[in-house]
Amino acid sequence: MHALIEHSHEVSLLLDDQGTILYASPALTHVLGYLPKEVSGQTMLSWVHSLDQSEASESLASLQAHTRQELFTTQRYLHKDGSWRWLELHVVNKLADPQVAALICSLRDITTLKEAEIKQQHLVKESDLAHTHLLTVLQQMPAGVMIAESPSGKLLLSNDQVRQIWRHSFPESNEVDKYDHYKGFHSDGTPYAGHEWPLARSIRQGESVREEEITFLRGDGTRGIMSVSSAPILNTQNEIIAGVVVFIDISERKRLEQLKDNFISMVSHELKTPVTSIKGYTQLLQKHFQRSDEKQSLHFLAKMNYQLDKLTDLINEILSISQLDLGMLNLRPQVFDLVEAVREELESQQATTATHKLQLKGVEKLTITGDRERIGQVIHHLVSNAIKYSPGRKQVCIEICYSDQAALIHIQDYGIGIDSEHFSRIFERFYRVDEPLEQTFPGLGIGLYLAHEIIQRHQGHIWVESQKGEGSTFSFSLPLQPHTTIAKETSHDNH
Ligand code: ADP
Repeated sequence: MHALIEHSHEVSLLLDDQGTILYASPALTHVLGYLPKEVSGQTMLSWVHSLDQSEASESLASLQAHTRQELFTTQRYLHKDGSWRWLELHVVNKLADPQVAALICSLRDITTLKEAEIKQQHLVKESDLAHTHLLTVLQQMPAGVMIAESPSGKLLLSNDQVRQIWRHSFPESNEVDKYDHYKGFHSDGTPYAGHEWPLARSIRQGESVREEEITFLRGDGTRGIMSVSSAPILNTQNEIIAGVVVFIDISERKRLEQLKDNFISMVSHELKTPVTSIKGYTQLLQKHFQRSDEKQSLHFLAKMNYQLDKLTDLINEILSISQLDLGMLNLRPQVFDLVEAVREELESQQATTATHKLQLKGVEKLTITGDRERIGQVIHHLVSNAIKYSPGRKQVCIEICYSDQAALIHIQDYGIGIDSEHFSRIFERFYRVDEPLEQTFPGLGIGLYLAHEIIQRHQGHIWVESQKGEGSTFSFSLPLQPHTTIAKETSHDNH
C-alpha cells in the first residue's frame, strides 16, 4: 500500500486538524515543485490563492467541526516556481478515527483542463458579445437584412426593417421554395419563383447579387421597387454555409428620378422648337446679307449659326439621355449606305468648321442595317470631339473599312490625346478627364456615354486608342449582314 502511494502520480497528503502537513507523497514534487520533506510541518493554507482562501478556510472549519466527512474541491495553489496551479482536492475526514487521526487528502493537477475551460468560457462570452453587436447593428440598419442557412434556405436572422419594408410579417421560411411568399415581379411582370430570389441564388449557387431592382407587392396591397443585394457566406473550406440579403425600398427615389427625367425630356423638347426657329431666321438673314454683300454682318451671323449648332447638339444629347433613362430610346432600323451617311455628316460639319479639314477614306459603299439617325449622331459627336480636342491642328481623318463580320469606322485626330488610365472610364456617363488642360474645353461628359449606348444597342463595339499629346483614334464597329453591298476603296476630302 505504501509503495502504491509512493509511486502514484496523484499526490497523497496526511493533514492534521489545522491543515498542517504530516505526510506528503513524492508526486508532490511533480505537481507543486516542493520536496515532501520541505513541506512537512507547513500548513496547506499558506499556498492557497487569495481568491480561494475563504473557501479553503471554510472547508477546513467544516472538517474540523465534523460537519463533513468528505470534500471535493478545486483551488489554486502556488507552485515553487511562482506560478499558480489548479488542483482538484479530495479530502476524507479521518480525524475521529483513532487509527488515523488525520485528514487524508489526494490532489491532482488540472491546470491544463481548467485553462482550456476558462478559454472556452472566454470565447463563449466573446461570441455572445459579437452576436449582440451584430443584432444591434442589424436593428439599426436602415435596410432590411435577412440571413438564411444553406442549402435549406431556413431563415436564421432578420431585422425589423424587413417587416417595415414589406408592411407585413411573413411566416418564417424553412426552405427556398417557400420564398415565393414574397411577391416580387420581373420587369416583364412575371412573378419571382422562390429559387429566383437573390438570397436563394446566393445560398444555392453562390451568386453575389448587386442592387437588383425588383418590383414588389407590399402586405397592404401597394406596389414598390426595392434594390436587393445578396451574397453567400462561406466557411474556411470555401463551402456555402449561409447567405445574407440586404434590401432597401427605392420607390420614392425612383418616382423622383422619373419626375426629373420627364422634366428634362420636356424642357429639351420645348427648347428645340425656338432654337430651330432662330436657326431658320439666321439662315434667312444670311441669304439677305449675302445679296447685299454685307461682310461684317455675315461674319457675325456665321458665328451665331455656329453657336446655334452647338446649342442644338447639346439639346439633342440631353434629350437622348433622358430618352435612354425613360427607356424610350427606340431604334428605327433600316438598311442604308454607311458611307453616304458619313459623307453627309462630314459635309454638314465641314461647312461649320474653318479650322479643320475632314478627310474621308476607305470603301465607296457599305450597306448596313441600323438606325441611320442615331449612328449619324455618334459620328457627329466623335467628329465634333476630334475637332474640339485638337485646337491648332488642321486635320481629322475618317476611315470606313470592314472585316469579316463588321463595318469599322475610325476617327483620328492629332490633338491633346488621352492617357490610357482613362480608357476604361471615358465612355461612362458624366466622365470627363479631370486635368487642367481638359477642363478648359466645354462639355458635359455625356456624348461618349450616349455613343457607347447607341453602338451597344446595335450589337457593335466602340473603343479608343490614344497617346497623351499625340492625338486619339475613336473607333466603332457595327455588325454586317450576310448580303452586304461593298464597293472598292476611295479617298475624299470634304473641303
Ligand atoms: P465632353 O466632350 O462633353 O466632355 P464626352 O463624353 O464627349 O464629353 O467626352 C468625355 C471626355 O473624354 C472629355 O471630357 C475629354 O476629356 C475626353 N475626350 C473625348 N474625345 C476626346 C478626343 N478626341 N481627344 C481627347 N480627349 C477626348
